[in-house]
Amino acid sequence: MSNSRSFLIVGGGLVGLATAYRLLERYSSAKVTLLEKEPHVGLHQSTHNSGVLHAGLYYAPGSVKAKLAVTGIKQMTAFCREQKIDHEICGKVVVAVTPDELPRLDELLRRGSANGLQGLKKIDKEDVRKIEPHVNAIAAAYVPEEGIVDYRQVCDRLAGLIQDRGGEIINDAQVVALSRKDEQWVALRQKQNSPPIL
Ligand SMILES: Cc1cc2nc3c(=O)[nH]c(=O)nc-3n(C[C@H](O)[C@H](O)[C@H](O)COP(=O)(O)OP(=O)(O)OC[C@H]3O[C@@H](n4cnc5c(N)ncnc54)[C@H](O)[C@@H]3O)c2cc1C
Repeated sequence: MSNSRSFLIVGGGLVGLATAYRLLERYSSAKVTLLEKEPHVGLHQSTHNSGVLHAGLYYAPGSVKAKLAVTGIKQMTAFCREQKIDHEICGKVVVAVTPDELPRLDELLRRGSANGLQGLKKIDKEDVRKIEPHVNAIAAAYVPEEGIVDYRQVCDRLAGLIQDRGGEIINDAQVVALSRKDEQWVALRQKQNSPPIL
């Protein structure tokens, strides 16, 4: 692909920011513009989630989600290490508190093993207590590869790196329509009289 290509990304959550970052890494002289409707990137789901680094415990083996989770956690932890972003691979326990939850727990263990998670194991009530003394479980899946991360820092760092690499982030720019004009796409903002952005 030619480096003179232009990319327009709508939405400055983790997905849009990571996409812009990787595009600039891959095509260093491409024009990358990210449009965000809010006054700042990362004001929605990406900074209002559980802050967990998932390793692929839940997803069906062989699915795209499973593959992305398995490779994604490695990429995200490498990024956090390089960029000195607060994160911790502290491990996770997924607990069963009643006998009827045990089959679902076993299914998670089966999926996690099939997805190649390292160190994944079923632990009993006493072992759960050693890790989480206030949890009253009958069994749990122990997932040592998983952890927690500050996704606010991730969003802000990605935004800074995008701009350092020559990408443009335009806030307060809600896209309401896209149309084709000759070889180009034109993105229209919300306000009636605003000029097209690209
Ligand atoms: C309850 C819950 C807990 C979760 N916990 C975790 C977790 O622990 N770990 C994990 O990895 N994932 C977790 N996730 C999933 C994760 O949060 C999402 O996969 C991720 O945030 C999606 O990012 P996004 O960029 O697609 O969305 P968003 O963060 O929502 O970003 C979309 C952006 O697009 C902007 N936008 C929307 N429309 C327009 C428009 N027309 N023009 C311009 N801008 C626009 C928005 O303002 C927003 O900034 C969780 C999800 C949920 C629901």
